[in-house]
Amino acid sequence: MQHFLLSAAARSISLKAVFSMGEGKAYDTFKALRFAANDGDPVCPRCGCVEIYDISSRRRFKCAACYTQFSVTSGTIFASRKMSFTDLLAAIVIFVNGAKGVAALQLSRDLDCQYKTAFVLTHKLREAMAREQAGVSLNGIVEIDGGYFGGYRKPENRAEDRKDRRLKVHQTGKRQCVVIMRERKGRSLPFIVANEGDACPIVRDRVGTLATIYADEGTGWDALHQGWDTKRVNHSVAFMDEGVCTNQAESYFSRLRRAEIGTHHHIAGPYLAAYANEMAWREDHRRVANGNQAALVAGAAIGSRQSRAWAGYWQRAA
Ligand SMILES: [Zn+2]
Repeated sequence: MQHFLLSAAARSISLKAVFSMGEGKAYDTFKALRFAANDGDPVCPRCGCVEIYDISSRRRFKCAACYTQFSVTSGTIFASRKMSFTDLLAAIVIFVNGAKGVAALQLSRDLDCQYKTAFVLTHKLREAMAREQAGVSLNGIVEIDGGYFGGYRKPENRAEDRKDRRLKVHQTGKRQCVVIMRERKGRSLPFIVANEGDACPIVRDRVGTLATIYADEGTGWDALHQGWDTKRVNHSVAFMDEGVCTNQAESYFSRLRRAEIGTHHHIAGPYLAAYANEMAWREDHRRVANGNQAALVAGAAIGSRQSRAWAGYWQRAA
């Protein structure tokens, strides 16, 4: 059987298509996404009025009721965009096409833009992806597992100088645990904690009490038996035991590790949550055609209010 990613349905949008559609059509695409709730016709972001004057020469709108002037990107993640709409759409297509993520450096080369522009844009797209996970709760069968990232200490050259890196005193303190909760045929929710067991209160918030939890033998998960029907699989014995496994959680970690090693080389502590969310989104949408993935990300980004984390980035960095 042909691999899904090689089928025509999986490549419904190409960079070639984006660049040949031109700026006008790329603009129309963002306009349709931004005002989707009003059939693509502009709505005043301040008062909600739908009677709008079109200052089409400048691609701006003016509200007939409160006279506010706005554009397709006003008040959204793309508010202070430095790119054309064509480049913005191309960036989104390149970004969704990278199964192991896309490095900002590569995007800056592909689009011939500054590294910082690409860096901020990719983080804004990750933020938009993460919005989909907000408020989601998991039910049915939920696999839970943890994986440790960061805090790598390179061993000394000479064997006699090497330290036992398992000892706490020799660790950097930068190691963090990503905990993934993954509903079978449902969503994946990652969280960052210091140690696996610290995730139990978060599990309480996000997993329904009627769910069945699958976890491995890690002692951090013992507490889960009090709140849920919890089944364990002992990985030192088997990866699947009477149907119980955490293979979906393992697939998620596999993607996150490949993103770390193959794309970003190093995932810095404060950004770990952003990459963890991005990879969860990619796992959950892996069978969605890339054209639809691009529409989902563009729609989430243009529907997002100005980024809190990234809006002031240029002012701060200057
Ligand atoms: Zn208005």
